[in-house]
Amino acid sequence: MRPTPNPTDASVTALYQELILDHYRRPRNKGPLADADVHVARKNPLCGDEIDVQLRFDGDRVAEAKFGGRGCAISQASASMMTELVRGKPAAEAQALADRFTELLRGSADAAADARLGDARALSGVARLPVRVPCAAMAWKALEEGLRALK
Ligand code: ZN
Repeated sequence: MRPTPNPTDASVTALYQELILDHYRRPRNKGPLADADVHVARKNPLCGDEIDVQLRFDGDRVAEAKFGGRGCAISQASASMMTELVRGKPAAEAQALADRFTELLRGSADAAADARLGDARALSGVARLPVRVPCAAMAWKALEEGLRALK
């Protein structure tokens, strides 16, 4: 586990940019999920991003999460980070992470330092770029829509 960095530090900004590019170039959990219970597609016409999130549930747990899509580095990296974080988690915990990530995108320093968000903390700088917020949010919005299928 990495130490909690100060997101205003220049070296942290560089580290975070590297992490975003790493998830963009080597996306985790990308590809079709044959036995998915839900499939949520989203588009961000402002940037041309496309994301589809597929979830498989095991009772009240997100057993598997995968995504497909194309678009900017922020949109694709965010989807990669999201699927990595919610796989295997109870649905309530996945929803709590989505709520926390929404706070991060609204500029919450507390959320930006929350270790539960893992690599997704690298997207905290997006809060200062309002035009890119929808790029980072779309995979998580798709997750939330998918989780609602459980209720
Ligand atoms: Zn985008």
